[in-house]
Amino acid sequence: MQFRDLKKQYEVLKDEIDKAVELVMTEANYISGRQVAELENLLADYVGVKHCITCANGTDALSLALEAWNIGPGDAVFVPDFTFFASGETVLFEGATPIFVDICEETFNINPDSLQKAIDAVVEEGKLTPRAVVVVDLFGQPADYDKVIDIVRANNMLLLEDGAQGFGGDIRGKRACSFGDIATTSFFPAKPLGCYGDGGAIFTDNDEWADLIKSLRIHGKGKDKYDNVRIGMNSRLDTIQAAILQVKFKAFKEYELSDVNKVAMRYSEKLQGCVRVPYVKEGFLSSWAQYSILLDNKDDRDGLQVFLKDKGIPTMIYYPKGMHRQEAFADIDCVKVDLHISDSVCDRVLALPLHPYMDDATQDVIIEAIKEYKRA
Ligand SMILES: *Cc1c(COP(=O)(O)O)cnc(C)c1O
Repeated sequence: MQFRDLKKQYEVLKDEIDKAVELVMTEANYISGRQVAELENLLADYVGVKHCITCANGTDALSLALEAWNIGPGDAVFVPDFTFFASGETVLFEGATPIFVDICEETFNINPDSLQKAIDAVVEEGKLTPRAVVVVDLFGQPADYDKVIDIVRANNMLLLEDGAQGFGGDIRGKRACSFGDIATTSFFPAKPLGCYGDGGAIFTDNDEWADLIKSLRIHGKGKDKYDNVRIGMNSRLDTIQAAILQVKFKAFKEYELSDVNKVAMRYSEKLQGCVRVPYVKEGFLSSWAQYSILLDNKDDRDGLQVFLKDKGIPTMIYYPKGMHRQEAFADIDCVKVDLHISDSVCDRVLALPLHPYMDDATQDVIIEAIKEYKRA
């Protein structure tokens, strides 16, 4: 059994993908070929923002956004404690200080009350300037932007939406990657919209930032690549990946997103009352980067994982520890924030196999095994 069946997806899309890749090879525009700009237009249109700028991966996308805002030493950037490492890593990489804030147990997303408290604490301490909040659409569900945006605006800060897991989700029809002043996503193969290697994108309505990011991603280019007006990086999406993404994006829009929602809803229906199933807020649509259940405690969770493994059912723990427990962040000198929800969720969370191509019979095996474990 596959945790996320990318082989099956390729079987279904093989003819189209092979053709698209072959065309890139024939045209031989491997870097910045026309497929890249075509994809950027498609994605900007889908998300509903003016600019989509692709880049090499979702981590670079975050760095490019922070760089465009000139965020660096002396700046505080607030980041949820429960997320993938890159959300915090890029802040420190730019020389700024990440301040980790707690999450909501129901949605796994940033907790507005904890965010407010953390900002107050930083302001009171007076050492750092609050500049931005990285808001992550964790496991596919958009964060609670209604509340977060008010806090961000009231404190004159910028909102960076890390939509690496959220692409395709929406709140009452407004799509993920359109909530941040700048938003980013990742096309890592296992993300909701993945390519066959690394890839990422940046979204914004702001012309000035878009121009700056386009320059930064190609060695700080001015008129062209050999006219360099600032220090940048080399972070582009390969033409081959853009061609593959065009095919995958079509499938994503036409059926994958709705199919993965059907599979997720079926889990929730059948597992309700047995384990804590994911909670999707009213009016929110998740793109289901993960289907994560909560168990009673660490023993219960670890026990279930072993029980399922023995039956050949793969599961994953996203994430075994919060950002503040990562060694790489051990030396950060900043205010202390209460992170007990993040700690508790790290001990109890378990992600089940999920993808748009999962059939009922396979899913029933997983559901029955979980029920059997909980009965014992
Ligand atoms: C995957 C991920 C990233 C990084 O994306 P890459 O393309 O792997 O660099 C950043 N943030 C979150 C929340 C992610 O899940």
